[in-house]
This record gives sequence, C-alpha cells and structure tokens, in this order.
Amino acid sequence: MKAFVMKKLDAVGFMDKPIPKPGPNDAVIKTTRALICTSDSHTVHGAIGPRQNLTLGHEAVGVVHEVGTEVRLFKPGDRVVVGAITPDWGDLASQAGHSSQSGGALAGWKFANVKDGVFAEYFHVNEADANMALIPPDVPDEMAVYCCDMMSTGFMAAENAEIPIGGTVAVFALGPVGLMAVAGARLRGAGLVIGVDSVPERQDLARAYGADAIVDHTKEDAVARIMELTNGVGVDSAIEALGSELTLQNAIKVTKPGGTISNAGYHGKGDYVSIPRLDWGVGMAEKTIRTGLCTGGRLRMERLIRLLQTGRVDPTRMTTHTFEFRALDKAFELMDKKLDGVMKPLIVF
Ligand code: ZN
Repeated sequence: MKAFVMKKLDAVGFMDKPIPKPGPNDAVIKTTRALICTSDSHTVHGAIGPRQNLTLGHEAVGVVHEVGTEVRLFKPGDRVVVGAITPDWGDLASQAGHSSQSGGALAGWKFANVKDGVFAEYFHVNEADANMALIPPDVPDEMAVYCCDMMSTGFMAAENAEIPIGGTVAVFALGPVGLMAVAGARLRGAGLVIGVDSVPERQDLARAYGADAIVDHTKEDAVARIMELTNGVGVDSAIEALGSELTLQNAIKVTKPGGTISNAGYHGKGDYVSIPRLDWGVGMAEKTIRTGLCTGGRLRMERLIRLLQTGRVDPTRMTTHTFEFRALDKAFELMDKKLDGVMKPLIVF
C-alpha cells in the first residue's frame, strides 16, 4: 500500500509499506477520507523529535478491512470513525478518567507518534471496540472525519472551560480548534462568546459558529476590548486555542476571579511558560487553569456524530481545499506554509 511519511526531520514523501495486520483486539481500516492537521506540520519539524519513515496523519475515517478475533462490535465493510487519540482503556490513567494520558503524559496519542498514522491506504487501530464508532448512513465521511480531532479537541476546550449557562467566554485564536471551541461554547450554553483573531475569513466562520463579538488583536488591545465588552468584569471562561505564551497570559488577564482558563493550544517553544502574577491574583484569585489533549474513544465519537446527525454543527464549513491522496504532498505543503487561506485540507482516497 501507499503511505505518506515523514522521511526524516523536515522531509516528507510517499513510500510503499505492507498492509498492517490486526492483533486480537484490533482492526485495520481502509481509509476513505482524512484531514491534515497543523500538528502534522509540528511533527515533521521536530515537535516529537526525529522519526524515520513514520506515516503521518491522525484524522481519518474509512471502511473496516479486517478485525481481530476478539473484536465484537465491528465487521469488515462497516464505515467507521476513529478518534485521533486511541487510548489503552485498561491503563490506570484511563480508569482515573484521563484516557488521553494512558501510558504516560499525552501517550494516548499513538497515530504518527509511536505508531504509523492514517495517511495511508490502510491503517491499524488498537482496541477497536473502544476506539472507533460506526458512522450512520446519513452522515457523510467528509463530515464525520471532523469528529477525530477538531470537534473533539474544540469541544473539550469548551467542556474544560466550565462555562456557566449564560456565562461569558473569550476564545483566543480562531483556527479550526478555536472555531470548534466557539461552537462548543454555544452548545454549552454561553450567553456571550467573544472570538479573537485578525483573519477576516476566520472571523466570518466564528460568527457563523456562534461568536457574538469579534476582537481583532492587530487593531486594538484585545485585553482592554474584552474587559470593555464585559463591563470591566472579565469573562467566566477563556479558551486558549493557539499555543502562545502571550495568548495564555491574555486569557488569564481577561478571566474574572473564580473563572476558568482552558488551554487547548500546543505550547511548542521554550522550557517555561510564565503567567502574569498580579492578573493571576498572586495565586489566590481562584482562577483555574485547565489543560487537555483531544479526547478519544467510542463513546466520545458517538456523541460527536449525534451532533452531526441532528445538525447542531456543520464542521465542513472549515474545509477550504480538497486533494486526492496521491497529491497529499501538495496539500501538506499548503498546510505547512499556510498558503491560500488554508484552514483544513480534505484528502480523498
Ligand atoms: Zn489533528
């Protein structure tokens, strides 16, 4: 089969690999649709260190090709969505309710990290009964594929933000995760959602997903404007969807005492992330900072699919480009260099 791999640091390309075989609890999926993620770029540029010929990608749907002897819920031919995070459900972290951290910090993330990812004609899924979900006939693949990561991560950011019904929320950065955080904040009952970004297309999408106000941080002081929009009080919940020290600091600044800062961004620079001491209430203002990695699992995927079935959210608005699998190198370059207003490139197999 063909696979799109990270050949070494800063180098990608296609190569032939054998079709994987499932262990007793596993499945092998024939890929039908995939999405490229900014974190695929981070990986290629060294976020998890050097890798040789590692198949990239962690967001995909497909058709079951083969299942192991112990798999009960799926059979060849089933259309399935697989979470980007595929935890070991027997791990103690999973039992404690932190399945994305099963096996160690962030170790529930296996695709294109500790095993081959999904940018291939076939890919392997561990613990298939627990890590994938059926796609109902009325949900198309190009929609279901958003459950893997973008919806799961963005909604996780909103869930972790502890948004009170009618409460106020600021979402910093309106990339795909930030946009799904906006949609998630609305689903969680926010009364005022403020999005922060400078790109007009992203601002428009944020409004479509439910943002009530947009702040362009390149034209005005984002913190001052958010304080103004909340009558000087600050927001109940702030969501960081970029992974920058400055936006995390701003999220802390605009959060009222007792509020929650939810971090979804990947902080890829430096050894330390500093927080503003006074705006943090010198450690005593009851401001909670929560972190999280995308949530996986069948229950999670089934819940997300239900939102698609009932039309609560349409993530396909974020698909800006479509490529055939054989042109994945071109799609990857587009995403890597953030050209042509790219948001999410959809890959068709
Ligand atoms: Zn992703």
